[in-house]
Amino acid sequence: MSLAFDEFGRPFIILREQEQKTRLRGLDAQKANISAGKAVARILRTSLGPKGMDKMLQSPDGDVTITNDGATILEQMDVDNQIAKLMVELSRSQDYEIGDGTTGVVVMAGALLEQAEKLLERGIHPIRVAEGYEMASRIAVEHLERVAHKFEFSLNDVEPLVQTCMTTLSSKIVNRCKRSMAEIAVNAVLAVADLERKDVNLDLIKVEGKVGGKLEDTELIYGIIVDKDMSHPQMPKQIEDAKIAILTCPFEPPKPKTKHKVDIDSVEKFQTLRLQEQKYFDDMVQKCKDVGATLVICQWGFDDEANHLLMHRNLPAVRWVGGVELELIAIATGGRIVPRFQELTPEKLGKAGIVREKSFGTTKDSMIYIEHCANSRAVTIFIRGGNKMMIEETKRSIHDALCVARNLIHNNSIVYGGGSAEISCSIAVEAAADKHPGVEQYAIRAFADALDSVPMALAENSGLQPIETLSAVKAQQIKENNPCCGIDCNDVGTNDMREQNVFETLIGKQQQLLLATQVVKMILKIDDVISPSEY
Ligand code: ADP
Repeated sequence: MSLAFDEFGRPFIILREQEQKTRLRGLDAQKANISAGKAVARILRTSLGPKGMDKMLQSPDGDVTITNDGATILEQMDVDNQIAKLMVELSRSQDYEIGDGTTGVVVMAGALLEQAEKLLERGIHPIRVAEGYEMASRIAVEHLERVAHKFEFSLNDVEPLVQTCMTTLSSKIVNRCKRSMAEIAVNAVLAVADLERKDVNLDLIKVEGKVGGKLEDTELIYGIIVDKDMSHPQMPKQIEDAKIAILTCPFEPPKPKTKHKVDIDSVEKFQTLRLQEQKYFDDMVQKCKDVGATLVICQWGFDDEANHLLMHRNLPAVRWVGGVELELIAIATGGRIVPRFQELTPEKLGKAGIVREKSFGTTKDSMIYIEHCANSRAVTIFIRGGNKMMIEETKRSIHDALCVARNLIHNNSIVYGGGSAEISCSIAVEAAADKHPGVEQYAIRAFADALDSVPMALAENSGLQPIETLSAVKAQQIKENNPCCGIDCNDVGTNDMREQNVFETLIGKQQQLLLATQVVKMILKIDDVISPSEY
């Protein structure tokens, strides 16, 4: 870019010519794009499945994340390449729509790209490949509907839901207590679900974590928790049928401002002032009691003397509660935030079945639990764990499990996991390819091969011989006509995923295939890459 002047002395800018931009055309563009996409997929491939590896990512400011969640890995990876960014988006959309299967979708897209590369080398036009993929994905998605099972659950029998969440959790760090985690996730979802409308509002489930304790101590709380304690150690630790005054005004006598002048020149005057202050606060406490409050939650603090008085008058209080939390408490308990003390009335009190302070073993930490709130079904999952990284990864795993339970309430169809659904689709797509006379049949067949790479990755990650295992399982599926045969990653002794109780949701699997195909088609259709040159 350079600056020049015309004959009148007016400045104008000469832009660098288009030719000087870096430009890739035709097959070169497609090949470069494909290898970028494949590179991203290769990173995630080893994280797939119950024996998948975790990745450790360090952010520029030194924070470390350890995870095997596809969406998180890609989110934290600093990718520059535009195509790689598309893969990041792909994983994000799967996370957004379904919440689970974020690694699988990228592995599938990577496999499709790899197959496409071979076809392009054989001289097949990218558009034909894209069309073939589109046909094949439609066949696969329809086939999934056919092999899907309805799975029944009721409020009395939530076992199938728990089992499905356990499949999701089995590939995560929390594997050790997947049963209890899955139960927590299912109970949380059922607590906020509207089973008639088949609707679940996940916003009502808060996931909180605190370093300390064991993973096994993770619990589900039917209400909300606040990281605070009662203001005085001798106040009651448990209040039943609590009526809560939620104050954002100072809960103490007004302090003299700096500009006021109070002359105190005798002991008597000082005593009077002190008594007056005491009476003022006493009146405030009385007012709270008069409106019927049994607990005061304040945004502001109060001094030790006031604290002592509160303890004496038997009015428990929690101080220094943040604004966001106050709002949450107000919504959940059906109370109103009181900004001016005079406005405190009985209708403005929030109600909760039980409020208790819980302290944790040897640490001095304690939390306030506000349970069975009047106005809300909101629940909190409170995660404990040895360190921050563990808690963060547990949060992500629980999120996946919550999404799976929600999806099953939306739509209770399932397909079997361990790669069995992919193998079964691959057989169906392969068979369909023979019926297509055109060039597309190569692309359809390539799609079938790409489907195989998911079970292959599962086998590889579990230390099995990928090709041998896959061909054995595929042969078994065809021989027994059983679409439930998959990769026995955990060496249980059977390939039948129905016996192993490894399922995934139908909509999740369908979405994986559709999204992966969509992105690959988009990449294949790019034949000109124009980017600013390096200098
Ligand atoms: P994603 O982020 O895509 O959910 P995961 O790492 O959770 O990836 O791996 C999911 C894959 O692992 C699915 O294909 C699922 O069927 C498979 N899987 C999970 N548990 C088992 C198991 N116990 N045996 C065999 N396959 C399993």
